[in-house]
Amino acid sequence: MHYLSTRGGMKPQPFSDILLEGLATDGGLAIPERIPVVDAETLASWRSLSYAELAARVLALFIDDIPRGDLDELVHAAYRPEVFGIDMVPLKPLDGGMSLLGLSQGPTLAFKDMAMQFLGQVFEYVLKRRGTSLNILGATSGDTGSAAEHALRGKRGIAVFMLSPHGRMSDFQRAQMYTLQDENIHNIAIKGVFDDCQDIVKALAGDLDFKSRYRIGAVNSINWARIAAQIVYYFWGWLRATSAPGQQVSFAVPSGNFGNILAGHFAREMGLPIRRLVLATNENNVLEEFFRTGIYRPRSAEQTRATSSPSMDISRASNFERFVFDLLGRDAARVSACWDTLSRTGQFDLSSLRDQFESRYGFVAGASSHGDRLETIRRIHRDCGVLIDPHTADGVKVAAAHVEDGVPMLVLETALPAKFGATIEEALGRSVPLPPELASLSALPQRVTVMEHDVDAVRAYIQQHVSSAA
Ligand SMILES: *Cc1c(COP(=O)(O)O)cnc(C)c1O
Repeated sequence: MHYLSTRGGMKPQPFSDILLEGLATDGGLAIPERIPVVDAETLASWRSLSYAELAARVLALFIDDIPRGDLDELVHAAYRPEVFGIDMVPLKPLDGGMSLLGLSQGPTLAFKDMAMQFLGQVFEYVLKRRGTSLNILGATSGDTGSAAEHALRGKRGIAVFMLSPHGRMSDFQRAQMYTLQDENIHNIAIKGVFDDCQDIVKALAGDLDFKSRYRIGAVNSINWARIAAQIVYYFWGWLRATSAPGQQVSFAVPSGNFGNILAGHFAREMGLPIRRLVLATNENNVLEEFFRTGIYRPRSAEQTRATSSPSMDISRASNFERFVFDLLGRDAARVSACWDTLSRTGQFDLSSLRDQFESRYGFVAGASSHGDRLETIRRIHRDCGVLIDPHTADGVKVAAAHVEDGVPMLVLETALPAKFGATIEEALGRSVPLPPELASLSALPQRVTVMEHDVDAVRAYIQQHVSSAA
């Protein structure tokens, strides 16, 4: 299996090469040259597999430059009970034909652990095989940075430099990141806001000399290995929710960067019997608007609202281009034309294809508000005895409008409520105690370097602390 660019300007490359790159050299995103198909007989034979065994089967379809025995070891190291609990990715029934697919049992209590834990293993493996090292540079407002640090801590040949806005994360998020004592993890708190952190990362990643000399890499949401690892749990959810071949299920996905639901799109194209892919946004409804109108109109940072489902406060869905590539018949010239139009006019119009969104690709969409989230958290707690987080609540709210008789609706649980105590408190009118192992986090010593908003100071810090292990 080789990988192409959505813009058509990259020669086909094997998995291990695109793993370590960010954007393709032509500004597009890496995409598999063809979508592998899983027939009904193969699917049926996967029913008795453990999560790790299933992950090996699915990932092997996309990764053929890592020997199968090695890939097996990597997925078993990523998806083990010590990391995700004994009951991995459980299905938790709600009411009205809906269930939650429990993706947030990992170390940082959000679904990003599912892909990051695999990414940590496969990065270490590929770097070792090549005898080289990598320095991951990133900016985080909370979730992605902690998932990356927990996945990469203690890994040979990798150092992580994670910038976060000083004094602007929740106590819980700070504790999750800053209490890591591993030598290869560097938390840098910048006196500024998230955008300032992001600007520093962009400036350093744009310094090509610095970037190549210090082997700077990223683990952002466009990394193909993350998408591939996320495809696995759509298969897992289908296998758990059905008992007969060809039986359809629908998935509802709280969305921001379009990474999670893109994996669902791939699973569906691979032949998994998925009826609907229900895309849920919060008040930042760029994607909901696209699936309603066919017009893609990303917003500026100033027009992006800070909501109570903060991990979905995204103005530019960085993975969306991969879906548009399929929508446009895998025609890279047409994709490039769309993004040219976007950079000239701030939007592009695919409304002529609107009737295909649902009929051909199964996509429907809806948006949720702060009031909807509070109401949904309250109702699910009252009627089902289950506490859900605000992002998952957006999913449940939008999913409820699309449930069909006889088609199980699986809502992806993208985080656990313990992470978002203030909103839960607002919904229920009382505080929710943290689980004991999390409550004790706040008592542990923290390791963080506070710095001014100064690119040169951050550059100097990285130069002094880079990983040279090979
Ligand atoms: C990242 C995140 C999302 C959005 O997922 P995308 O892949 O960016 O669409 C939703 N909920 C939570 C809790 C997240 O951390």
